[in-house]
Amino acid sequence: MFAQVIVDIASSAVDKVFDYDISNFPQAKKGMRVLVPFSGREIEGIIIGTSQSSNFDSSKIKSITKLLEDFPVVLEHQFSLMSFLRDKFHIGAADALRLFLPGAMRQGKVQDLCVSYSSLCESKIDEIYNLNSRAQKQILAAKFLESVQECERAKLTEKFGNSAVKALEQKGIIVSKKRVVLREPYKTLEVKNFGSFKLTQVQEKAAQTILSAPNKYLLFGVTGSGKTEVYLKCMEETIKQGKTGIMLVPEISLTPQTLAAFRARFGSEVAILHSGLSVGEKFDEWKRILLGKAKIVIGARSAIFAPLKNIGLIVIDEEHDSSYTSDSNPRYNTIEVAKFLSEITKSSLVLGSATPSLDSYYHAIKHEYNLIEMNERINKRELPPIKIVDMTHEFKQGNTGVFSSTLKTSLERTLADGNQAMLFINRRGYSSFLMCKECGYIAKCNDCDVSLVYHKHDNSLKCHYCGNRYKVLDVCPECKSHNLKLGSVGTEKVVEELKIMFPSAKILRMDNDTTRTKGAHQKLVESFKKGEADILVGTQMIVKGHDFPRVTLVGIVDADISLYQSSYMAAEKTFALITQVAGRAGRGNLPGEVVLQTNVPRHYIYRLAQSYDYTSFYKKEANLREVTNFPPFADIVRVLFTSTSEALAKSVTKEYYDKVKTLQQACPDDFVYFGVMKSPVGRIQGKFRFQVLMRLKKENASSIENKLFEFMNSVKKQNVQIFVEINPESLS
Ligand code: ADP
Ligand code: ZN
Ligand code: ZN
Repeated sequence: MFAQVIVDIASSAVDKVFDYDISNFPQAKKGMRVLVPFSGREIEGIIIGTSQSSNFDSSKIKSITKLLEDFPVVLEHQFSLMSFLRDKFHIGAADALRLFLPGAMRQGKVQDLCVSYSSLCESKIDEIYNLNSRAQKQILAAKFLESVQECERAKLTEKFGNSAVKALEQKGIIVSKKRVVLREPYKTLEVKNFGSFKLTQVQEKAAQTILSAPNKYLLFGVTGSGKTEVYLKCMEETIKQGKTGIMLVPEISLTPQTLAAFRARFGSEVAILHSGLSVGEKFDEWKRILLGKAKIVIGARSAIFAPLKNIGLIVIDEEHDSSYTSDSNPRYNTIEVAKFLSEITKSSLVLGSATPSLDSYYHAIKHEYNLIEMNERINKRELPPIKIVDMTHEFKQGNTGVFSSTLKTSLERTLADGNQAMLFINRRGYSSFLMCKECGYIAKCNDCDVSLVYHKHDNSLKCHYCGNRYKVLDVCPECKSHNLKLGSVGTEKVVEELKIMFPSAKILRMDNDTTRTKGAHQKLVESFKKGEADILVGTQMIVKGHDFPRVTLVGIVDADISLYQSSYMAAEKTFALITQVAGRAGRGNLPGEVVLQTNVPRHYIYRLAQSYDYTSFYKKEANLREVTNFPPFADIVRVLFTSTSEALAKSVTKEYYDKVKTLQQACPDDFVYFGVMKSPVGRIQGKFRFQVLMRLKKENASSIENKLFEFMNSVKKQNVQIFVEINPESLS
């Protein structure tokens, strides 16, 4: 017997199947992990098939060394997914398989957690009373065990001392045995009682539509329309039918909220998977899923690869969110993966959002998705009115601070009423750059072509691209002037100004800097939800999905940040951000209000966002994209070349460009745009960056893209990395 094995080496050179002899391993099956000899080493691999014969010279075929587990770790449908990832995103087989397994499982970096438990030995119970009365600790320990039946050995020694426990063990009065226990993430999470809601008619109808047939649905429901309850209802029915489900959320910080709602209803049938778990927790949750003990998986994008059997429902909440696109290798689009997964498993896919991505809405209009709308908030609560404040006017009035008088007044009122406010500023740190007023010098990173951000709490300048830290400057290195100025504000600065204005207010800050440690997200969210703070300041992390019923005011400190990003999606992203962050206000019984600060108050995006008019926004934006040939009417393809050697990066880029040029000359009509250039950020982490940029007409885009991937292999050089990106969110 032979097995076809994919070895765990992520290199295109070995991206093929190898045959091994499994005659000595009758249990070997497709999907199992094995150890195999491979060019003089022992390497892990996955069996992707078995056969009676092999096409290779059988005298040269080696035997596998061992089976790493006695059960398959990759499921049947995941092999189809592997092929899909290869065809659609050009992800090598080994890389694809890595997506399906907990990273630490490779090379045995994670093991089962074994815990020792102690209990009384039945036949020796009487001996407790024969114990020497001076052995008080032993007597107490034994009696304690008699009352509780069983106790973790470590707890017992903590209570009664190691020597007492050991002595009892030696006498045979107690026995201690090791057992595998599962590490449980969010063990202490408070589970809210959700079950009490009766669905509104609108929610009921949405749920029934979704449950009527396996299909793809776009649930377009305004913020606070109660989408979560619809997901819960659909999941409940799915489980009742003996099936399983996946629920994706965009942010790790949102998982506790969703997990609590799902645990309240489904208890231990819920598993969670995201990168914030410890290695052991992730391994154990993955195992619970694989063994069928968990039927619902909640998680960030990678949870789409969870080893769930019999999938009936896949929900992607906040489907417009950019976190569903992986922008580092392996690059894939979660929605595309979910679509495929729902097709091969005949399950339903629900994409939910108050601001669907332009792409998803387009597909809904084209009837690829079934569109379900929920136009009103629960209990007909109003969407909060948005006040647009002209900051140039404030400036002319002599207000050079962070807050307009309107926002200040609203904050005062909110605090006086004992309510909560959220302030959104999409930039962490204190201010965006340090500039010399005399000569225009801007502090930049040594390894990246970007300006540094000033962080006041540790008085440093940081590069947000590579993490480098620099000492803050008090004199310009170019002209020695002391006249240095700070650029636009970030979260730290907002907090500082708030503290001056409202000295007694309690303020929390949530951004990448305050949420680095495990569980930090959850702590901040829970603390704010409990009312332990009056104001939450944060980056887009605070925007998504949160349900804080006591928030009545939302302030958008600088709305223009996302509007001027160099992405074709800037308008779409800005509209979504405003709608989403505004949607955090007035979700409870109190009405909400939103103050939006901008330097371009008359921008059409702000007017459309102000009236919560997604459909008009869609029409305008879709029309613009159609006439200018942007996605979803065309594909943007960027081929990125990076290297520590500028000359090498340049020459490979040129070689590649020439190949594409030939292609373009053969079919000029398929190319709307074609150019080669230095990347907008010319260097990151010491690597130079060049790019070939194209826009391709939709009709033939995929066949051209296949060629672009092929070219990549033919120009490959050591020390030059090449990435093909299709419709990337950022072109930095
Ligand atoms: P969305 O995800 O659409 O923004 P949520 O699902 O968070 O909205 O629901 C908004 C609020 O309405 C939540 O506080 C939720 O508990 C509440 N809610 C949802 N459904 C009902 C219902 N049927 N009756 C009463 N309250 C509800
Ligand atoms: Zn200077
Ligand atoms: Zn840097």
